Amino acid sequence: MIHTPSYRELQRIFESEAQAIEYLQEKEVLSKQMKCPKCNQSMTLNNTVFDCVKRACRKRMSIFTNTIFYGANTPYNRVLEIGYLWIIEMKHKSIKTFTGMSPTTITRWLKIFKELVSFNLEEEHQQIGGQDIIVEIDESKFGTRVERTPQQKMFAMIVEDRSADTLLKQIEKHIHPESVIYSDMWKGYQNIYSWLGIQHHAINHSQGFTMKDTNPVTGEIQVYHTNTIEAHWQVIKSKIPPRECRYLFTELLVFIWKRQNPHDQFEALIRCLRRTAKISDLTNNTDIIEEMKTSDNDQTRSH
Ligand SMILES: [Zn+2]
Repeated sequence: MIHTPSYRELQRIFESEAQAIEYLQEKEVLSKQMKCPKCNQSMTLNNTVFDCVKRACRKRMSIFTNTIFYGANTPYNRVLEIGYLWIIEMKHKSIKTFTGMSPTTITRWLKIFKELVSFNLEEEHQQIGGQDIIVEIDESKFGTRVERTPQQKMFAMIVEDRSADTLLKQIEKHIHPESVIYSDMWKGYQNIYSWLGIQHHAINHSQGFTMKDTNPVTGEIQVYHTNTIEAHWQVIKSKIPPRECRYLFTELLVFIWKRQNPHDQFEALIRCLRRTAKISDLTNNTDIIEEMKTSDNDQTRSH
């Protein structure tokens, strides 16, 4: 199993712009070669700029064109450093102390990295659950599903509404029909068994997330609970200030992304960088771009 490398192993790329470029080229985040988009001649790389070899053309292009580094005031090696520190779960305040970068810069890049990974979250095409596997579902507008297995595969999506029609369609699509579904008492779920034929237990949360029921076949008393989802939400909620609910969905996606990439998470982050071009591709959320534009006062560039 390959783990995230230690800070020491990556330190050289965080400390030198040249090493960072070389590293990003190796990882195919940045190009080594480029054809001139204007005249299709080859271009030569001088430092961080590609120049067209054809004299008459004079086309110049930054190596960072179409990357999240383009137009940023923060040196790209320091951006990678913030990304790494975020991956290893260093808190904002500690990143500030550790790197000496401004809080605004750190906030901005953390936001970009979160958007980046949530954008790259691989949608689970296959269904979760399976024969007798318990799948917990949550009718909150985030539409979380969790498999109660050691892997605890989970996925989330935003649903347009919480009507039975919408929810049951999603359940049919994403949950294996032989699973056992646990949900709360939301009325949208009441026809899971009659419409989809999937075993279903509704649990009254007002009774402390557990419910006792008698198994009709064996007569045994069974206790059901939906603590798994509740526990996940507690983790997610504890990480964000209560008022910043608008970031809740991103936080949830980041949480899932981390679980989908349990090994070398820095490498996984680099893969996201390779796949995703510009910040403007990430999201319709224009605040990030606005913030990038207005951050000219940041004293982060170290010379
Ligand atoms: Zn050219």
